[in-house]
Amino acid sequence: MAMTVPTAARACIAAVALLLPISLAAQKLPAGLKTNMFDYEYVEPKNPAHRPLYEAMKEKRVLENFQEFLSPLRLPIRITLKLEGCDGVANATFWNSAIKVCYEYIEYLRSQAPKAQKWGLTVRDSMIALVVDVFLHETGHAVLEDLDIPFFGREEDAADYFASYLLLQFSKPDARRLILGTSFLGDIDSMERQMSAGEREMQATKMQRVADPHSLPSQRYFNRLCMAYGADPILFADAVSVGGLPEIRAKHCRYEYQTNAHAFKTLIAPYIDDDLQQKVMARKWFEFETPVEGLENPANTSAVPTGDAPAATEPAKR
Ligand SMILES: [Zn+2]
Repeated sequence: MAMTVPTAARACIAAVALLLPISLAAQKLPAGLKTNMFDYEYVEPKNPAHRPLYEAMKEKRVLENFQEFLSPLRLPIRITLKLEGCDGVANATFWNSAIKVCYEYIEYLRSQAPKAQKWGLTVRDSMIALVVDVFLHETGHAVLEDLDIPFFGREEDAADYFASYLLLQFSKPDARRLILGTSFLGDIDSMERQMSAGEREMQATKMQRVADPHSLPSQRYFNRLCMAYGADPILFADAVSVGGLPEIRAKHCRYEYQTNAHAFKTLIAPYIDDDLQQKVMARKWFEFETPVEGLENPANTSAVPTGDAPAATEPAKR
């Protein structure tokens, strides 16, 4: 059933959103929380085909960068960031105090990254966005579970919104590249593949997909675009014109972004150390090559690289 939010209710929620974070942030946090709680491990791949990826990720210091980026979070237990082979399963998980992204999942992302050219992004820039997004999604699970953060609905959706919200906190050009670099996952092409695959599937399998703890890929796609459009409808105007975000959803996206920003500021921000956060946000994190019109000097960009694109395989659910 479609539901609209009355204007008066929106105004009321917006007013509460302005007031609540201060009072809740002032509450005493549980004892024993510490910053700098992330370790990392590049697990030697069992599959020799993953060795170049393992070497490249180590050379780029991917996990060290995430460790630093996540250092302001106050947590009760240590969490290990891992890159690991998963015996052919393309997935990413948070389990047993470890955020694990499989080499197979990175390979799957690399097979999909050329599609980001639809949004004007290079393959390399899209890979940066995709890898950042998957680690932030899994960090969302870790934060919700280890800090016992309350939420309505499915944890998978909450982890998606956690990641999208953080992507939107970077500078405008970086936020645009991070959001668009991930946005083709679940887009119209994927929807068509999903629907045609669905027709071939048994009824029980279809029901499993709909009843899954994760939203459907196309729903995750529109949720992310709606968050971006709600955060900045000018920067992300093409969420509607290119991305196909329907007007009926787009008009609620400002409210949707604000409710998620309110949730983050109220429930999660109190667990972030201010001094470390300022240090983290002052650092330049990405060396993107795709220009963002009107916000940057195009002379700073380099040529579009070509990426090898292995055959796509369906990933497991992260
Ligand atoms: Zn998940």
